[in-house]
Amino acid sequence: MHQKKNDNHQSSHGREGLWVHSPLAAICFLFPLFFFAASLHAAEGLESIHLSVRVFRFQSDEDPRLNCSLSDKEIREQFVAVNDTWKQASIVWEIESIREMKAKKPDLFSRAMMNPRGQLAAALVQNLQDDHLLVGGFNVVIAEDFEKSIGGVFIPQADGIVFYAKRGPKGIQTPAVLAHELGHALGLPHTIFEKGNNLMMGSGPERVPTRVKPVTASQIAIARQYAEVGKPFKPQTLKAPKGNPAEVFHFLDSDSNGVLTVDESPTEYRDYAKEFFRKASRSPNDEINRQDYSKIVRQRSSGSRRVGYGPEIIPQILTRFDSDQNGILSRAEVKNPSSVVFRFFKQWDLDGDQQLTRKEMEESLKRSRAQPPAN
Ligand SMILES: [Zn+2]
Repeated sequence: MHQKKNDNHQSSHGREGLWVHSPLAAICFLFPLFFFAASLHAAEGLESIHLSVRVFRFQSDEDPRLNCSLSDKEIREQFVAVNDTWKQASIVWEIESIREMKAKKPDLFSRAMMNPRGQLAAALVQNLQDDHLLVGGFNVVIAEDFEKSIGGVFIPQADGIVFYAKRGPKGIQTPAVLAHELGHALGLPHTIFEKGNNLMMGSGPERVPTRVKPVTASQIAIARQYAEVGKPFKPQTLKAPKGNPAEVFHFLDSDSNGVLTVDESPTEYRDYAKEFFRKASRSPNDEINRQDYSKIVRQRSSGSRRVGYGPEIIPQILTRFDSDQNGILSRAEVKNPSSVVFRFFKQWDLDGDQQLTRKEMEESLKRSRAQPPAN
């Protein structure tokens, strides 16, 4: 759900945007078949990577929305479509097995569905039978109906689980929703620059529910890096260079040519640069020019103004920071300057007493969420 931050979309003539604006691409837009042929071309010469995924049907007598009615055949058909998207990257999702999973706390799910933006992700995690999961691999857990809440969600914490449902906000779901969540599981964020019904668009008018969706060469490169590791993507927090965005650009642009590459960045910030590139759907072999850099920074800061999280992250926040476990965060407990809580401490501390209560965080996170999530 961390990907929620990136649901603004802006156009660009960035490096990987170039082909979109080339005459060939213009023709491809007119003839979607050519368009897909062009995308699929990217996979040629790439060795296929096979990824095992264990699929679960949530079962519940208490809440029919958890009780998945998809047959094995229907699930396999969905994966055929998922693989039609992913073959652009020569990545093959292989069903290891299809199993049932009795939802552990359906009452939590039922309650969360009354206010899905608040608690749904946490409630889904709490319904897992952890010992059934494919360890160190990919797991997809399918419910029956997420109603208007979400189409699916990848939760990177713990083992990295994809939750999906037969029905979502638009009724019966297209397998592209599942392919999208698996994209998150391979480190792909929502798009900033990519257009034209790209697989990883979080929202926007260009996003249409097609069975198969295009991905860019850069997205292919990013996804393959994680696919080669064979485990779901885990986010990391990296130390950013000090300074305002212009200073950081100057610092990372070692050869001062006005274009960033990962390789030129100072060694101790190379991982940071790589991560910066990833969050903009750029592979480590790409370049980011000054204009695109500004766009990324703007997009990110607008994302952080509304935070992009909901109150469902409060249990995680408390687990991580509340060392004395009194349910209240003091300034002393929140030390990491790069954490969201550190950055928003003052803003969230509604009564200004230098302590964050659960109520203050709930209220602040509710206010900060300006638009529905795009998972
Ligand atoms: Zn998403």
